[in-house]
Amino acid sequence: MNLILLGPPGAGKGTQAKLLETLYGITQIATGDMLRAEVKAGTPIGKQAQAIMASGALVPDEIIIAMLRSRLTGPDCAAGFILDGFPRTVPQAEALDQMLDQAGLSLDAVIELKVDDAALTDRIAGRFSCAQCGAGYHDEWKTALVPGVCDVCGSHDFVRRADDNRETVAARLVAYHAQTAPILPYYAAQGRFFQVDGMAPMADVTREIEIVLATLPPRDGK
Ligand code: AMP
Repeated sequence: MNLILLGPPGAGKGTQAKLLETLYGITQIATGDMLRAEVKAGTPIGKQAQAIMASGALVPDEIIIAMLRSRLTGPDCAAGFILDGFPRTVPQAEALDQMLDQAGLSLDAVIELKVDDAALTDRIAGRFSCAQCGAGYHDEWKTALVPGVCDVCGSHDFVRRADDNRETVAARLVAYHAQTAPILPYYAAQGRFFQVDGMAPMADVTREIEIVLATLPPRDGK
């Protein structure tokens, strides 16, 4: 099963993608995570992307598209993938269609997590995660059961993303509305486009997505 999760930063794409990975045995492909790995490794892509990411703007399409090209057909995607954070522009959506065509693949569903902008800054500014296992936490809504110790793996190391601060979040939301929101009608016109309430509790969002996936219309009228 091949899916795209769409929505602004803080909509819950990463959280839901991780849950769907487990539920459906498919692989999360998060371009933001791929870029952060490039930055950490100090690669040429990482060096180009670092300042752009810190400003909240989008990394140029050519870099992202080249980075993603070989990823979709990797052996870990044999059962399918969930794209999280890609595509973010209409040219990226068009390039994805071409890549899928060439690989003989297609999308089963494009799901938008709908959220209020007003809630996003608080969601993002308070979030952090376990440096070892990636479990997500929030200063106000999801603290560790034992302060300073990860509930999942017991690690004492936690990390916050450099771009999860109020100023950068504002720029990321501007980029979302200007450059990413136009891909919603692109996918709506293709069909197999669904909207889920991303403001609902996490488990309810997952359940809504499961309902969408369980009731997908047949392809090509079959
Ligand atoms: P994310 O982890 O998805 O919030 O992405 C973090 C940052 O990485 C974004 O604010 C962009 O600067 C960059 N980025 C991630 N994915 C893309 C993409 N598909 N196109 C352009 N920039 C991206």
